Amino acid sequence: MAIIEISEIEDHETFRNELASIAHDGRRKWIYARKPSGKFTQYRTYLSYVLLAFLFFAPYLKINNHQFMLFNIIERKFVIFGIPFWTQDFYLALLLILFLLVTLVVYTSIFGRIWCGWLCPQTVFMEMIFRKIEFAIEGSPKQQITLDNGAWTKEKVWKKGLKHSIFFAISFIIANTFLSYIIGSDQLWKIILDPPQQHLVGLTAITVFSIVFYAVFARFREQACIIVCPYGRYQSALVDEDTIAVTYDFKRGEPRGKFTKEDKAAQLRGEKLHDKGDCIDCHQCVTVCPTGIDIRNGIQLECVNCTACIDACDDVMTKIQKPKGLIRYASNSSIKDGKKIHLSARSKAYGVVWLLVMTVLVTLFMNRKMLHVLVLRQPGTTFAVMSHDKYANFFHVQLLNKKNNPKEVSMKIISPQNGELKPLSDLVHINGQQEKEGRMMIIFPKSSLSPDGSTDVVIEVSENGTIADYVKTKFISPNK
Ligand code: SF4
Ligand code: SF4
Repeated sequence: MAIIEISEIEDHETFRNELASIAHDGRRKWIYARKPSGKFTQYRTYLSYVLLAFLFFAPYLKINNHQFMLFNIIERKFVIFGIPFWTQDFYLALLLILFLLVTLVVYTSIFGRIWCGWLCPQTVFMEMIFRKIEFAIEGSPKQQITLDNGAWTKEKVWKKGLKHSIFFAISFIIANTFLSYIIGSDQLWKIILDPPQQHLVGLTAITVFSIVFYAVFARFREQACIIVCPYGRYQSALVDEDTIAVTYDFKRGEPRGKFTKEDKAAQLRGEKLHDKGDCIDCHQCVTVCPTGIDIRNGIQLECVNCTACIDACDDVMTKIQKPKGLIRYASNSSIKDGKKIHLSARSKAYGVVWLLVMTVLVTLFMNRKMLHVLVLRQPGTTFAVMSHDKYANFFHVQLLNKKNNPKEVSMKIISPQNGELKPLSDLVHINGQQEKEGRMMIIFPKSSLSPDGSTDVVIEVSENGTIADYVKTKFISPNK
């Protein structure tokens, strides 16, 4: 029986107890990842062009005068894919957030952190913009280490100065873009073009955002995914043996060992090496990893599924004339038991919940009222005594037209009978996407009113001659 030294086990298992980017004394260990290249990197690059184009241009795209995407939390204005959502649609916004969360849960349980590797703005900016600039200015990881450890020569000052200036300029553009999603692109341009003293709050926000983005991409980097991101934290509870993720085929790869001249000669003779797996322990998959982990240790929390190690290993396999895919998209169970990739019962259950939430969301969205009428008794008033045994109440009316075209609104009392409705301001014409407030008076003869002094009133609301809604309110009168 082979005797394994305790220190050997500890050494092999250290990845469970420490982060690749944190040194033993708790200080940051800077990760100098190699530049990835290959099929998956190419696909991610193409996708990043689409995502970046969308991110930077969507705030300038307008549909029916509405910004294509707007999340104005301050003024409670939301536009999603050109469709405006008002405060009255808040239940839909909540349901949409729930739907997006369930979508993330379903996708994570089936495809692992596919969001992180392919779609997340943090990864797209970091890997497709900032790191590429770093490679272009400072060179390979080896050259970067030499530069960082070397003295402050003219070359170092120039390279560092240039890199950080470009990083800050891009962070400034990103900050402006994010702000345009919050306050709107028109308002953003006003802040930029007007005299600075008129928009001190806006300018402060742009500066703070720029500094935060610069700090994240220049210094914090992978720590955002490993330590801060809440999605990164809870994904471990969502993945299981059947989740498809970037996985090392340990059955094929182990026992790992260097690819020696003897191995090469045996390969040329067409002999199979029975004592060795396909992994030649070259560490190319480790040196290319932006979070500094070794995927051969299995699925880990730090893995953002960026696919860089797949490309690196495929390249090695091609060179040593072995099949690609030693690291590939696969489920742990498909590698361990040789089973076909399939959906687990849990993923199917998540899928059912996802379908239910989507059905409710679509149904509520399709049936949402496009004319919203709110009738409230005017605060601080009770009733007015009129001639001929009649009483009057004053009401505050709020109209909201969610459609883009103007409407003609009319209101009529349905119950109780013999009521008179007198608008005290224009409550008839309302423009598209307009919110309007006004007052009206309702008069009832004493005989129509409830003896307890509180009568339920039903008002029929029509838009352009068609009944649109029934609104309820209360009428106050003296007790009989
Ligand atoms: S790149 Fe492939 S062959 Fe090299 S160490 Fe990683 S898994 Fe093994
Ligand atoms: S292990 Fe592979 S997929 Fe995961 S973060 Fe590292 S390089 Fe990317």
